[in-house]
Amino acid sequence: MHDVVIVGGGTAGCVLASRLTENADVSVLLLEAGPRSRKLELRIPAAFSKLYRSGLDWGDVTTPQATLDGRQVLFPRGRMLGGSSAMNAMMVLRGTRADYDGWAAAGCTGWSWDDVEPVFARSACGAFPLAELPDRHVLAEAFVHSARAVGIPPAPDLNGEANDGVGFVPVSQRRGRRFSVLDGYYAPARRRPNLTVVTGALVTRVVVEAGRAVGVEYRTNKGGPPDEARADREVVVCAGAIGTPHLLQLSGIGPTAVLEAVGIEPVVNHPAVGANLLDHLACGLLLRTRNVETLASAESLANLARWLVLGRGPLTSNLGEAVAFVRSRPDLNAPDIELLLAPVLFEEEGLKQPTEHGFTLAVVLLTPRSAGTVQLVSDDPRDSPEIDPRYLTDPDGEDLATLLRGLRLARRLVAEDPLASFVDEEMLPGSDAGTDEQLHSHVRALSQTLYHPAGTCRLGSDAASVVDPSLRVRGLDCLRIADASVMPALPRGHTNWPTVMIAERASELVGGAL
Ligand SMILES: Cc1cc2nc3c(=O)[nH]c(=O)nc-3n(C[C@H](O)[C@H](O)[C@H](O)COP(=O)(O)OP(=O)(O)OC[C@H]3O[C@@H](n4cnc5c(N)ncnc54)[C@H](O)[C@@H]3O)c2cc1C
Repeated sequence: MHDVVIVGGGTAGCVLASRLTENADVSVLLLEAGPRSRKLELRIPAAFSKLYRSGLDWGDVTTPQATLDGRQVLFPRGRMLGGSSAMNAMMVLRGTRADYDGWAAAGCTGWSWDDVEPVFARSACGAFPLAELPDRHVLAEAFVHSARAVGIPPAPDLNGEANDGVGFVPVSQRRGRRFSVLDGYYAPARRRPNLTVVTGALVTRVVVEAGRAVGVEYRTNKGGPPDEARADREVVVCAGAIGTPHLLQLSGIGPTAVLEAVGIEPVVNHPAVGANLLDHLACGLLLRTRNVETLASAESLANLARWLVLGRGPLTSNLGEAVAFVRSRPDLNAPDIELLLAPVLFEEEGLKQPTEHGFTLAVVLLTPRSAGTVQLVSDDPRDSPEIDPRYLTDPDGEDLATLLRGLRLARRLVAEDPLASFVDEEMLPGSDAGTDEQLHSHVRALSQTLYHPAGTCRLGSDAASVVDPSLRVRGLDCLRIADASVMPALPRGHTNWPTVMIAERASELVGGAL
């Protein structure tokens, strides 16, 4: 018996397990479906997309997206200790005051910027570094200068109260290597006698008795009947924006009709479990370059040796080296678009090894109005849930219109020196694609996820929200959720650091209740 059972050893699970076990009187069991891996690709920043469809990725795709030519979009997420933080692009961008004040205004009491800023600050003290890349690419430098030529000023701080402007992205790295929650949080905690970690443990059900979560069932690789782990005080689900609603639904906590359709007996009717799937959609310009060596040639023995010995060279690049946050319309009070420069051709959703030199300038839709769902398809926990982000389905078409404005701005930017001096040719969509209809066709053919699913177990004060502002699941005792699924709206940034913040906050809430 443990005081707290945590499901999922990803970004949030590692932070929470580490913080809770700082108190020697609290015993914690952390269950993670994937392995503890030491694969080199986890350490080499530029190698993260090599982990897609590997054994360390859940290997998901979305349902066919009608607005994207019926394509099934690749949807990577980490399946290992460290979770998605062990395979992400290491960009540390938390969003703005407008985001968290927006959460508070929507009923998330205690989650305004002034409330969460000290929590972010605590994580940034050593456990979660905001580092500079050791070797910035010349194209990232050129992007920052060209942005100024189209009226995008340097951002004083990309993690400040406002993030308007252009700048180089802070990364979670140390000495040119990935430094994830495994290093900052898990490593200092792993030998504590009050922390037990089981990897290869797929949690299949939260066990509820008389309205109270008392533990979980899980299956390990050894097969046989499921094991049960009891929680004396609380169960905290940190399985991520896809895994958490899936597990709740498997446990009978979700929309009754969806559960009954696959033969699961409802425990609590929660229509919002698995609803409100939000994600950042990205669509890029791909440009062939001249007179510059890009990351297409980064993979070499010499560069590997340089990385191993010195922690320097192109393999330290996280690809997303520089960004600009911009307002695509003058009436907005905060950015709705991110322009992201990667000094490589990011083709076929990152699955294709680049064969020529070029770069990608992605346009990211920061405040999507479209929302989708995560729903189980059977009562077998091994079956992936159906992931339907319903990209670009907002009724007034504002998401698409915003992306098109972003693509036009991106084009103006690449036409300015110094970036323009490196451009040989726009490969995609191609310089002859000038009309809205041609750009729309490019959006349908090429858009992909920026890997930021959130919102599927929304936090709020209203009765329809899944968790209350203390992250407790409504309608049950002793069950909380702490991960990206509770975000009521996406921040105008990326989701890893905000998830660290949520877990830091959860450690105060859970720790305070023990
Ligand atoms: C390829 C990629 C690139 C990204 N790049 C960036 C970036 O540069 N910057 C940024 O801010 N964000 C980035 N993100 C997003 C960021 O990493 C995530 O938002 C963040 O990791 C979410 O944390 P989480 O704890 O909610 O989920 P995760 O970190 O995904 O953790 C969930 C964990 O739960 C485990 N799990 C799930 N179901 C079960 C179950 N039933 N039983 C046991 N264990 C289970 C999973 O295996 C996983 O380890 C990226 C993500 C990906 C995939």
